[in-house]
Amino acid sequence: MLKADLHVHSTASDGTLTPEAVVRAAHDLGLAAVALTDHDTVDGVEQGEEAGRRYGVTVIPGVELSTEMAGNEVHVLGYFISTRAKELRAVLASLRTERLQRARTMVKRLQDLGLSVSWAAVQAQAGGGAVGRPHVARALVAAGYAASVGEAFQRYLERGKPAYIPRAKLTPAQAIALVHQSGGAAVLAHPGLLSSPEALPAVLGLNWQGIEVFYPEHNRQVTEALLALARERGLVATGGSDFHEVKEGRPGLGACTVPQAVVMELKRRRRF
Ligand code: AMP
Ligand code: ZN
Ligand code: FE
Ligand code: FE
Repeated sequence: MLKADLHVHSTASDGTLTPEAVVRAAHDLGLAAVALTDHDTVDGVEQGEEAGRRYGVTVIPGVELSTEMAGNEVHVLGYFISTRAKELRAVLASLRTERLQRARTMVKRLQDLGLSVSWAAVQAQAGGGAVGRPHVARALVAAGYAASVGEAFQRYLERGKPAYIPRAKLTPAQAIALVHQSGGAAVLAHPGLLSSPEALPAVLGLNWQGIEVFYPEHNRQVTEALLALARERGLVATGGSDFHEVKEGRPGLGACTVPQAVVMELKRRRRF
């Protein structure tokens, strides 16, 4: 069966493979399609699409927007968006600036804590892509302040830890509207990871086209419950690996996939 991985990061945000390398890996795995869903940016899409034409892999233009609703971090996936949409470009540009400022503040905070980590080192990790906490974490690991990215998060970067800096976020409703304005379909990312699961009904009340049911961190029980919810509400049940890097213990590309029919249904529901 032709399979698609609908949640993948690249070096355009905090993934470690370039969009080209992601597409090549998808081809090697026999995937028919892959959606590039970088955090708050569509900068990797063009390179991905170009590689897709060469490798015979369908590359779906996507984005993963970080939003907040009543203290819950809600990730909004947008698919089949027009990456040239004016409003989208304007919002992404301002999110990017904000990410830069926040990363600089995090570095300053770490320096104030006595750690010798430079802004240049973080920038080097980000390589010009949308900068995020994983880049700061990787710089901390490289400087010997943590044994792993996970440990760097635990010690310094998680919410409530000394170098955690919040950033102004869109609301999920704003992000969904932005996806629609860009001609796309909006999908609730990894609902099983909501910090307060009791918020799910309110979140689901928004104008979604789908919810991400098949996800590495959703156990069987969660997956079945979400699948039932998707059916009940007439939402497309999507899935993807949330691939970031080739590493033991982290989901690989293609770790979660959906049949091509799901991609077609999602495409049918896009706003244009
Ligand atoms: P940011 O968008 O800059 O706030 O960074 C969020 C990203 O950091 C997520 O998408 C994950 O890729 C990663 N992340 C968040 N929490 C952790 C954690 N505890 N350990 C490792 N990576 C994490
Ligand atoms: Zn990420
Ligand atoms: Fe996410
Ligand atoms: Fe993600």
